Amino acid sequence: MGTLLSRSPQKQTCQLCEHRELQHKISFAEMEAVHKKRLNEASDRSEREHKESLAEMETFYKEKLEKERSALRQLQQELKSVKNRGEQRGTPSCQRCKRNELEFRESLAEMDIFYKQKLEELRSALKLKEEELKSLKDRTPSML
Ligand SMILES: [Zn+2]
Repeated sequence: MGTLLSRSPQKQTCQLCEHRELQHKISFAEMEAVHKKRLNEASDRSEREHKESLAEMETFYKEKLEKERSALRQLQQELKSVKNRGEQRGTPSCQRCKRNELEFRESLAEMDIFYKQKLEELRSALKLKEEELKSLKDRTPSML
């Protein structure tokens, strides 16, 4: 009954298929790590600082918001550079590469949207805290 080798159909591939797939995996993993790191840093910081005294919190608050903003900017830059790197690889000619390239872009875009939402949530949480702080300050004008 047939040989083991005969079962694998000849796929349409090019020399770059494996390489491109690996590149995609690396880029995706890199990007996800960057996103996760930023998100964790941002939420850790906001948790920790929320627990500190109001006075301390106030002192750090503006800095913190600034940091969040620059972290967001940096993230957008990194995302851009990863996207550029992806585009610089050139247009693939084989079907498998084309399909993979498309899937890669789609999953990057999905991830982008996902983490942008997360950061957006974090940002509005920060804004809420800022407003809380302001209203507390308004109610206790003697504080400063
Ligand atoms: Zn290929």
